[in-house]
Amino acid sequence: MKTSPPLEDVPCGLPDQVNDLIRLGWTVDKARRPSAASLLEHEAFCLLGEIFVGVITDCSGATAGCRQAKMFLQGPNKRLTCFAMGLSRKHLRIITGLLTGHVAFNRHLTVMKICTDPLCPKCGEEEETAYHLLGRCSATMMARYSIFGSYLMDITGLQQVQPHTLLRFAKASKRFT
Ligand SMILES: [Zn+2]
Repeated sequence: MKTSPPLEDVPCGLPDQVNDLIRLGWTVDKARRPSAASLLEHEAFCLLGEIFVGVITDCSGATAGCRQAKMFLQGPNKRLTCFAMGLSRKHLRIITGLLTGHVAFNRHLTVMKICTDPLCPKCGEEEETAYHLLGRCSATMMARYSIFGSYLMDITGLQQVQPHTLLRFAKASKRFT
């Protein structure tokens, strides 16, 4: 069955980049439809990253609908704001993704219907989320031990980790290369 991009159902007032991403992603014609990998390069994701840093740095009260951001962030955070302001775009995207879960992790991509397998590509044991990578993935256990000082981390433990240390772990995990 042929369906058109569901733009009629999209709320108005979204940034053009987001509409463009939806239009490309739902293109029916296989020859014209971009690959999932190239969709992930779409600038809408940078924009979303920036929006979420805005949300994070404003106040975590505004993120009530965002389960994971709430999990990691407790209230306005000056330290994180200063840290985020000094980052490159790429690192900003990684740290935002880790804190909000809005990053190209398989669980998130599955929810967004960009991919069908939510499992972690490194260990295949659990759905791939930021918490899985940071706290639980068995494939990143050694990096976790050397950087966080523990083989496993729970949410409370991760909340104590400085943002720059999270970024160091993200690099060591090689998940964002
Ligand atoms: Zn894993």
